[in-house]
Amino acid sequence: MTDFLQVSGKTFLVMGVANKKSVAWFIAKALEEQGAKVLYSVRSEARKKSLESLLAGRPVFLCDVEQEGACEKLAAAVAAAGHAPLQGVVHSVAFANYSEGFKPFHGTPRRDFLQATAISAFSLVELANALKPHLARNASVVTIGISSLHVTPDNYGYMGPIKAALESSSRFLAKSFSSDSEVRFNVVGAGPLKTSASAGIPGYIESYLYAEKLTYRRRNLDTQEVANAALFLLSERSSGLNGTTLTVDAGLGSNFFDKDIIRLAMRPEQ
Ligand code: NAD
Repeated sequence: MTDFLQVSGKTFLVMGVANKKSVAWFIAKALEEQGAKVLYSVRSEARKKSLESLLAGRPVFLCDVEQEGACEKLAAAVAAAGHAPLQGVVHSVAFANYSEGFKPFHGTPRRDFLQATAISAFSLVELANALKPHLARNASVVTIGISSLHVTPDNYGYMGPIKAALESSSRFLAKSFSSDSEVRFNVVGAGPLKTSASAGIPGYIESYLYAEKLTYRRRNLDTQEVANAALFLLSERSSGLNGTTLTVDAGLGSNFFDKDIIRLAMRPEQ
């Protein structure tokens, strides 16, 4: 079979490219390699400028999801430029204000929690609602979550509960859209990656290297592996998946009792 994914010739909107390391960029590139047309939505004029050479020749829209009404403006601009209907949407956006450094979870400032929730979770609801009239009947919406909502990393802090809200919102959207469409909503639950978002997490490098030891293969994820899962979810090949999370973590979530890590923790001198 030559075109297994069958995304060729279809139009997808990808939100969240910041640079060449972004999950969104890996997904967009993979879509383009499969012959899809990709529309880009970036956060600001300055970001658009910094991406000028990377996104040369592609349609680039602006949407700062922190601003009320921004998703409606984006949807109107996409439709006015004649790009509808969209076969899929990628929401790969998150923000947390870690500028004051590490704080225990119970010390989370209200304004930081609400800002991060608006940008990182509620924006999926606003984006879906705004784009609803411009989606193909069987479109696919994919957002990027985390590989486990049960773990409680100190340095990830309040983003854990916000990612839980994102994942739950995706499921509720799958349900609410089902009343008059077959639009699907799914999450890629990604393990630790090397991107600008993760670089902002206090003490991330050590967590990242530790996570690598926990993978069954002793090698951390490649962002391409996360993008490949997203591509599958965007394609009709995943038509039976709706309201789910596809975990991409190279096994780390199941490997708490790895014998080498137990030895290092219990007998570091050996
Ligand atoms: P990234 O920094 O490349 O992407 C984050 C994007 O969010 C950026 O493009 C940024 O401009 C955008 N953004 C932030 N505030 C915005 C706003 N107000 N309006 C519009 N866009 C805004 O980092 P990434 O790792 O590619 O992050 C993409 C997604 O992947 C995020 O949801 C992140 O939580 C998730 N994720 C990342 C990892 C990791 O280890 N990097 C692991 C699991 C999940």
